[in-house]
Amino acid sequence: MNEQEKNTFPVGRFAPTPSGELHAGSLMCALLAYLSVKHRGGKFLIRIEDLDPDRCSREAAESMIAMLETLGITSDGPIVYQSERNALYREKERELQQKVRVYPCFCTRAELHAAEAPRLSDGGFLYAGACRRLRDEQIKERIALRRPCYRVEVPDCAIGFTDLLAGQTVQNLKAECGDFMLRRSDGVYAYQFAVSVDDGESGVSEVVRGNDLLSSTPRQIWLMRLLGYTPPVYCHIPLVCDGSGRKLSKSEGDSAARWIETYPPERLLGFLAYSSGIIEVNRAAALDELIACFSWKNVRKNKIILDRTLLK
Ligand code: GLU
Repeated sequence: MNEQEKNTFPVGRFAPTPSGELHAGSLMCALLAYLSVKHRGGKFLIRIEDLDPDRCSREAAESMIAMLETLGITSDGPIVYQSERNALYREKERELQQKVRVYPCFCTRAELHAAEAPRLSDGGFLYAGACRRLRDEQIKERIALRRPCYRVEVPDCAIGFTDLLAGQTVQNLKAECGDFMLRRSDGVYAYQFAVSVDDGESGVSEVVRGNDLLSSTPRQIWLMRLLGYTPPVYCHIPLVCDGSGRKLSKSEGDSAARWIETYPPERLLGFLAYSSGIIEVNRAAALDELIACFSWKNVRKNKIILDRTLLK
């Protein structure tokens, strides 16, 4: 897909991780991603990021899809499950190895979470490169003892992009990110790699997601370019908070499921649209009406507050 086609036929996506119930913040993200492409007559895709078999389940994925459907948010193409795409990832990993160095790493820290989208609160760390220069015989010795994960060596280069909401963002891969993981030692592909392949393969031209993934974007742009994909336009939406200004969390009962069960779809859509700034009055609104009036100009830039007490 070339640049011009991307502009005339935008492709957006929502890519939840089915590790629990759909969160109200994720629901907001899904709605904005949907409205943004639909407003321009584009295509909307749903992708299930179930890379980690221990944390994700088919039931959780199906319940998320059903909830979105209740609001009229459906995928315009087959729903992609990352857990079914290992052969594709393997092929793309080989392709990547033609261009950059991918090496085994025997360090253990942080391995467990590599298949998940990183959160700023995780306090990510920079890999010091302990395994970057291992000699062949050292690798052989260590492989006999434990299975390594695989990292990609990043260059000393700055990757910049203009986020639709967050503005100009630049990151030096070597200094601010470090060699990152492509595949865990159990063979599960890492979030950064799978997302880059999937967005590229689906011709996604626009990514709308939470602000906590802003710092993952330069890595993904770099990988996509290496694999010959055109990176999408990014729009990182601000933190979604509750009525008292605190970040929403699953544990505090901000589950979208409860809201979807309790309120008619148009009431909930109107509340979400009002809270994000798309409409000026807190009232019921149909999805078609929101598609027609959607504009990023009206979406709040600093904080989106979902004040449950306004949902009546
Ligand atoms: N699956 C990720 C999550 O649930 C989102 C990834 C993305 O949108 O790139 O947070």
